[in-house]
Amino acid sequence: MTDAHELIPAARPVIGEEEIEAAVRVLRSGRVVQGPEVAAFEEEFSELVGGRHCVAVNSGTSALHLALLALGIGPGDEVIVPSFSFAASANAVRLVGADVVFADIEADSFCLDPAAVEAALTPRTAAVMPVHLYGHPAAMDRIMDIAGRHGLAVVEDACQAHAAALHGTPVGAFGSAGTFSFYPTKNMHALEGGMVSTEDAEVARVLRLLRNQGMEQRYANEIVGANMRMTDVAAAIGRVQRAKLPAWTEQRIANAAYLTEHITAPNVVTPKVADGARHVYHQYTVRVSGDRDAAMARLSEAGIGNAVYYPTPIHRLKPYWEPDQKAGRTWDLPETERAAAEVVSLPVHPGLAPRDLERIVSAVNALGEQK
Ligand SMILES: *Cc1c(COP(=O)(O)O)cnc(C)c1O
Repeated sequence: MTDAHELIPAARPVIGEEEIEAAVRVLRSGRVVQGPEVAAFEEEFSELVGGRHCVAVNSGTSALHLALLALGIGPGDEVIVPSFSFAASANAVRLVGADVVFADIEADSFCLDPAAVEAALTPRTAAVMPVHLYGHPAAMDRIMDIAGRHGLAVVEDACQAHAAALHGTPVGAFGSAGTFSFYPTKNMHALEGGMVSTEDAEVARVLRLLRNQGMEQRYANEIVGANMRMTDVAAAIGRVQRAKLPAWTEQRIANAAYLTEHITAPNVVTPKVADGARHVYHQYTVRVSGDRDAAMARLSEAGIGNAVYYPTPIHRLKPYWEPDQKAGRTWDLPETERAAAEVVSLPVHPGLAPRDLERIVSAVNALGEQK
């Protein structure tokens, strides 16, 4: 709850008494590295992904990286990725030595457009990486159909979409692998952390090897691996947050419903939800027509936290743009460019009080009036 002029933050990570107690319990136990808490967290998280195998790692980026490695994606392969995402999505592809092929998004969901995926296929396409951006599930039914017809691996970037679903199937339970982040601002956190879900027991085994130097038995290294382990301290915090996630998710959905019902400014377009989609509102993202910078400044003046995710599409970031320029390669991504120019995310987190929601609505609706 905030008073009338206090800033309503765009996100409010929770580190409550239960999280602190869980961390202290593990610290006092002296068993702090990957152990029983990680195993229990994996078990409890798997309920969110239809009972698939879950492998905990130290970040969402590591989850993406290891998922691609475990699926055998590497040099010579192309992976189709939306440019309208956090750079981690594409970075993971480059980290395994594969090539990123950018495809455009749908105007309504901000997620990968299946028609654009189909158009981006080449003989080298090995995988597609739909991102469930802002907590809205990508069009997985159509993307899985394309992948099935062309023999592609599917790595779901569900780093913003814990407990989102499409036609009743949770994200992370569609693809060859699903990946989640537990960074503090995500819908649930573990300070830092990540999770990979997969239906394939062998892929899960390889993921466990890759996160721990390629070892199942100590010093009996089977493959080349890294150290991307989650600590038991992080896992204990993640377990507390996992238990709170259902109530938090309902609160995010209710907050979003309130905002969508009450925002009436003619120059602001509220988020759309696809048929059968359960949007979990990691972000509540509107489109603003006209001068976005001025609109954001007015929101900030009114004490309403706001941010653009993401102002620069990945294909325009230096590590992607420069090599493409050199190779004379250009991307035609009109919906990506338009979204990057128009979007603004507003507070929707479960810590908002009714009064905060009213303040957000009145500040946004004031954008529709002459100043
Ligand atoms: C947060 C995020 C990641 C990376 O997760 P980290 O835990 O920060 O490494 C990847 N993809 C998307 C879409 C994200 O939002």
